[in-house]
Amino acid sequence: MATTLPAPPIERACFWLARQPAEAGEALAGEQQADIVIVGAGLTGLWSAIHLLTLEPGLKVAVVEAERIGYGASGRNAGILSDTIDHSHALAIDHFGVDEARRLAALGRSNLTELIGFLQARGIDCDLKRSGILTTALSPEQRIGLEASLKSARELGVDDWRLLSAEETRAEIHSDLYQGALFNPAGGVLDPVRLTNGLAREARRLGARIFEQSAVFSLERAGSGMRLRTAGGTLRAKRCVLGMSAYTHLLVPRAKHRFLPLFDYVLVSEKLTAAQRETIGWHKRQGVSDARSFFNYYRLTDDDRILWGTSEAAYYPPNRVDRGCDHSAQHYAQLKISFIEHFPALRELEFPWAWGGAICATTRFSPFFGRALGGRVLYGLGFTGHGLGTTHLTGKILAHLALRRDSELLNLKLVRELPFPYPPEPIRRWAVGQVSRALRRVDRGEPPNLLLRCLDALGIGLSS
Ligand SMILES: Cc1cc2nc3c(=O)[nH]c(=O)nc-3n(C[C@H](O)[C@H](O)[C@H](O)COP(=O)(O)OP(=O)(O)OC[C@H]3O[C@@H](n4cnc5c(N)ncnc54)[C@H](O)[C@@H]3O)c2cc1C
Repeated sequence: MATTLPAPPIERACFWLARQPAEAGEALAGEQQADIVIVGAGLTGLWSAIHLLTLEPGLKVAVVEAERIGYGASGRNAGILSDTIDHSHALAIDHFGVDEARRLAALGRSNLTELIGFLQARGIDCDLKRSGILTTALSPEQRIGLEASLKSARELGVDDWRLLSAEETRAEIHSDLYQGALFNPAGGVLDPVRLTNGLAREARRLGARIFEQSAVFSLERAGSGMRLRTAGGTLRAKRCVLGMSAYTHLLVPRAKHRFLPLFDYVLVSEKLTAAQRETIGWHKRQGVSDARSFFNYYRLTDDDRILWGTSEAAYYPPNRVDRGCDHSAQHYAQLKISFIEHFPALRELEFPWAWGGAICATTRFSPFFGRALGGRVLYGLGFTGHGLGTTHLTGKILAHLALRRDSELLNLKLVRELPFPYPPEPIRRWAVGQVSRALRRVDRGEPPNLLLRCLDALGIGLSS
């Protein structure tokens, strides 16, 4: 449940946003025009702008954002950058078949190399630390699961993942809970707000105009193009790209059949003292998650705080994504408990920062693409809590779609095929509750129940 306690607005609650307060940007006013307009100044919107202007320098690109740059998940995330486009290689095989999964695995790697190369070439400093990612096992069963993950990765041509024993894992990060880990050297950790701000600067340098504090409330046809409206003005363009992620249904209601808006919650601690730091080790500062269905993910910040998050996301019927969902006292309490279970020596550590943000889940754990207003509006979303790297790729795909340019990316199955739909309300809230309860039982070591086995048989399960 969303908390009813007084809770600070996200701009003050979120560690990343609060430490880089933004000046109020220019709002959309009067009648404006562009070749392509993008709604949403998160990672999808900003990468779309950058790819558009790289493909066609001189194009008139405008970005229209309801709040501030990075207000959505892009400014609120854990900053763990990974190369996987899907949630796991095994799920990619389940959802797309081995050949396509192999293509996605290679694409995930090349996407990450391109993204990091771009940041370096354009001088975008976002405290990126290429520390790799550890997936830890908290039980012997999970350790067997990691061995299967390693096998799937190798089957797809990813040969640099390494399995760590319990002792090796505990030597990296000192928690007695660890029964082993899988190390993926690709990726690492970064500051998400420094990333989005850096991309916004680069998009502007390439010629994009970014309007903030300008919530779009309608999209409509205008001759062969389209027009959007905000309280302050209108903007006419040939085509429109939506980089709205979990908010997409607010402008394109039918998109909600293909995704579920969910809220993920995280805590950030006070700075660790040198003694506290010594108790946990973690000298290589890897991004970490564990191998449960509802896992904890965590990392050190550049100034030695612990960010502690949970993938046990909340659904607020019917598809709510408003400020009332930004805090959850229940999730914060659970996060604190799971943290102390991992690091009992740090039980006194305070977590002055706590917030949530909307992610968009799909039944296949990877993004999908859609069109509205006869192809004048294009959208891509569905990162299922995993978009830091994939938004770079999605932005490139959207830029090609908006310019009607060909690219081999457009024949990816995730571009051509839609994910299996979620049921409508009120069945949706019931189904989310049932699946969540069943997954919690699996995380406690019980076998998947009939419901989960049926979902697996339909190819929309989560067991891989
Ligand atoms: C707590 C949390 C932790 C996460 N951790 C990680 C992680 O460690 N690694 C990882 O890879 N991914 C992580 N993610 C997921 C990742 O942040 C997202 O996949 C990614 O940021 C999505 O970017 P986006 O631009 O598509 O969406 P968003 O960043 O949500 O951007 C959508 C934008 O659209 C704007 N908007 C909405 N409605 C309107 C409107 N009507 N008019 C104008 N603008 C509008 C919003 O204000 C927002 O700025 C996490 C997400 C959360 C919430």
